[in-house]
Amino acid sequence: MSAGASDFRCPHCLTAKMLEQTWGGVAVRICMRCGSNFFAAGSLAAFEGWGDDLPPEAERVAAHHEASVHCPACGHALERLAFPMEPTLELERCPSCRGIVLDFEEIRRVPAVGRWVAERAKARAGQ
Ligand SMILES: [Zn+2]
Ligand SMILES: [Zn+2]
Repeated sequence: MSAGASDFRCPHCLTAKMLEQTWGGVAVRICMRCGSNFFAAGSLAAFEGWGDDLPPEAERVAAHHEASVHCPACGHALERLAFPMEPTLELERCPSCRGIVLDFEEIRRVPAVGRWVAERAKARAGQ
C-alpha cells in the first residue's frame, strides 16, 4: 500500500480529494463534494463497534459485483456489495486493502445491517 495518504481522490468525483476527519475516535476520509466516505480496513468495525468491518453472514448473502470505480487508497477496482435488505443497501469495498466506501445515506443505514443479521440468525435458531 504505497499510495500516498495525501492523494486520496474520491472514487466518484475523481478530482475531489477526500479529507480526513475523526468521528468518535475513528479516522474517516470524506469527499466534501459528494459526501462519499472511505473507511480503511478495521475502521468501520471500530465505528460500529463490530468485530468485523462487515458481519460475515451479511457478506455471505450479499450480491457481489465489480464496480467501475477504484479504491481511493490503493487504486484497485472496487467491488460493489448489495445486501438483500428492504430497501437494498449497497456499498463498495476494496478487495485489496479492504477499505470501504459508503455514501452519506448508506452510512446511516449501516447499523441496520447488524440488526438484519441478528434477526436472520434468530429466525434460523428458532427453526
Ligand atoms: Zn466525491
Ligand atoms: Zn484499496
